[in-house]
Amino acid sequence: MNYNIAVIPGDGIGPEIIGEARKILDKVGAVYHHLFDYTEVLMGGISIDTYGVPLTDEALETAKNSDSVLLGAVGGNVGNSKWYDVAPNLRPEAGLLAIRKGLNLFANIRPAYLYKELADACPLKKEIIGDGFDMVIMRELTGGLYFGDRYTKEVDGVMTAVDTLTYNENEIRRIAVKAFDIAMKRKKQVISVDKANVLDSSRLWRKVVEEVAQDYPEVTLNHMLVDNCAMQLVMNPGQFDVILTENMFGDILSDEASMITGSIGMLSSASMNESKFGMYEPSHGSAPDIAGKNIANPIATILSAAMMLRYSFDLDKEADVVEAAVEQVLKEGYRTGDIYSDGFKKVSTTEMGDLIAERII
Ligand code: NAD
Repeated sequence: MNYNIAVIPGDGIGPEIIGEARKILDKVGAVYHHLFDYTEVLMGGISIDTYGVPLTDEALETAKNSDSVLLGAVGGNVGNSKWYDVAPNLRPEAGLLAIRKGLNLFANIRPAYLYKELADACPLKKEIIGDGFDMVIMRELTGGLYFGDRYTKEVDGVMTAVDTLTYNENEIRRIAVKAFDIAMKRKKQVISVDKANVLDSSRLWRKVVEEVAQDYPEVTLNHMLVDNCAMQLVMNPGQFDVILTENMFGDILSDEASMITGSIGMLSSASMNESKFGMYEPSHGSAPDIAGKNIANPIATILSAAMMLRYSFDLDKEADVVEAAVEQVLKEGYRTGDIYSDGFKKVSTTEMGDLIAERII
């Protein structure tokens, strides 16, 4: 089959890591007879340099007309770059917000997976890690506290700040459906995280999630309060399959979950809209400190491309093969600088891409 992918290399290490992800997709295409067509889109600092804005309408249109988007990272050295002497809506990261909004990406998916080979980088004790963990955090991305009405004003002579947490049942239903769909491709367990002992929005969340669960009899649903979830992530991370949660809780819990994997260069992510359309990108930034040196770890971007195969194109077998190739290369002892330690074989960005591609057969 043919797939049209809008590719946004972005800034810093973006072009280097995107080059390796394309190498992997091309190998998958050759082995499994798919054709991936790429259209390059400028976003971030490079778009500012070329067009004066971080994202043009044409670039957004190209992304909208594709089957999915593969993004490297945008942004420069925040303390020392011409891109930051301008209004916030003209900075590189504004392109990111604009494209997320323009594509209506309301569901953020972040896997947290512990590779046995990298277990030493995990800050948790060995007895807690056990057989490792493999979870996905499904975070609502366009509602809740970050998007509600807010103001700061003096009330009876006292400065008072107000933020509003709003969710309607449709917003909850559509993210819950995504979480259950993804659980069906995994271990079929959803833990919905809320604060239903205090918040009305959480009580509605719980009710709607339970309604959605009726359509997925094979999936086990449990509820967990957010404070307990924060504890359980570091006490027993192996218990989680899919965590479903609202925007702010997801913001915090997904960072906590990434931290316990121990390596930022390995973490993929996706943001999806109501259809199968998604934007796939590593969780890390553009790493300007190591850009252009061919030393960045391309694995997070390669695993993001694997997520694209699974969630946007339903190519589960191909996604499995890419993930297995990554695991195999790690097992054989190859490491980029960020995950290197004595006794292993240090490789460059392009060598890591080649090694993974060679194992896709
Ligand atoms: P960062 O993730 O770019 O880098 C943090 C540290 O991790 C750096 O030391 C970097 O060298 C290292 N690192 C990150 N990715 C790596 C990889 N693949 N391989 C090896 N090492 C890696 O975060 P930062 O330094 O806070 O931000 C740099 C720029 O990226 C800023 O302009 C920021 O706004 C932007 N940013 C963009 C995105 C995005 O495009 N989605 C996300 C976060 C930050």
